Amino acid sequence: MATISARGERLARARKELAERGMDALLLGPSADLRYLTGYQAPPLERMTLLVLPAAGDARLVVPALEAPLARDHLGGLDLEVAAWQETEDPVALVRATLEAAGAAAGRLGVGDQLWSAFLLRLQAALPGAAFAAASTVTRYLRMRKDPEEVEALARVAAAIDRVVDGLEGLRWAGRTELELAGEIQAAIRDGHDEVCFAIVGSGPNAASPHHVAARRVIQPGDAVVVDIGGRLDGYCSDTTRTLVVGEPPPGFQEAYAVLHAAQLAGCAAVGPGVPAEAVDAACREVIAAAGHGEHFIHRTGHGIGLEEHEDPYIVAGNREPLEPGMTFSVEPGIYLPGRFGARIEDIVTCTDQGARRLNTTSRQLRVVPG
Ligand code: ZN
Ligand code: ZN
Ligand code: ZN
Repeated sequence: MATISARGERLARARKELAERGMDALLLGPSADLRYLTGYQAPPLERMTLLVLPAAGDARLVVPALEAPLARDHLGGLDLEVAAWQETEDPVALVRATLEAAGAAAGRLGVGDQLWSAFLLRLQAALPGAAFAAASTVTRYLRMRKDPEEVEALARVAAAIDRVVDGLEGLRWAGRTELELAGEIQAAIRDGHDEVCFAIVGSGPNAASPHHVAARRVIQPGDAVVVDIGGRLDGYCSDTTRTLVVGEPPPGFQEAYAVLHAAQLAGCAAVGPGVPAEAVDAACREVIAAAGHGEHFIHRTGHGIGLEEHEDPYIVAGNREPLEPGMTFSVEPGIYLPGRFGARIEDIVTCTDQGARRLNTTSRQLRVVPG
């Protein structure tokens, strides 16, 4: 949890960004945006919870009365008025009054990406003079520039998932189902994290499906297995992928893996301040294409990570946004041969003045387990 002064600064910067973008207020429901700015981890409920943050004027956190104690606990002394509404009151009226007091009721209002349409429709009906826009232009701008405390939180959670990776070769693979392995891996994630987010175990032909859901397939000698795992610690997410082979690798696999390894190195080496995000994608893609596997790399190279598993900046062709120190994202090229095998290597890296700092530090050499 960010300190009170860090959250106070974030709120002030959000107001400044709003003003610079000609927006009059932010309206944020339960979301990572809300947690980032206020510390409140609001449960997503049918009762309306909404941060009303005008560019100028008093801000308010509108919450159902029964949630007010939790909200105050999470705010922990942050200078933000909690406006609790009783069961028979209309929270939209509280939102409108807050906007009217700030002179923003007929202005441009930025709504969070995760605000349910059930709430947005009520707000639109109650504020006929307002124009609604995406709050993410402001919140993504703030959140993708991680401050040093956030980078350290991401480094801690990366170290926690790396400990799980270090235990992979000690598990028994051959003759067991993907689901059994995923269960053991989830237990290991739970040990070092507050929450397990996902454990992808894709074996044999299933490894060629990047987001494969662990299934009843029995892992066999000659399989390559993609293990992509993540959890959450103190709010921040981990996400790393390593590929193992069980016994003898399938034909063509070792060559493909060597190409992949070189591509992931090239992607990390391309990271630096001022480098367009798409250049990191291009650096990986060039190596893979030069080896004739271009058509087998079927997804973008990476995604930002923080309070959410996938957030800005996206490392993808077309994203010309220059990288800045503090931006933290995955570099995760893959090579997938349908019906045969798949492989992926994923590390979270932070952009620094000296280039990429890898937060995941386990070996990227191919791991061979007994067949
Ligand atoms: Zn993904
Ligand atoms: Zn992943
Ligand atoms: Zn990822």
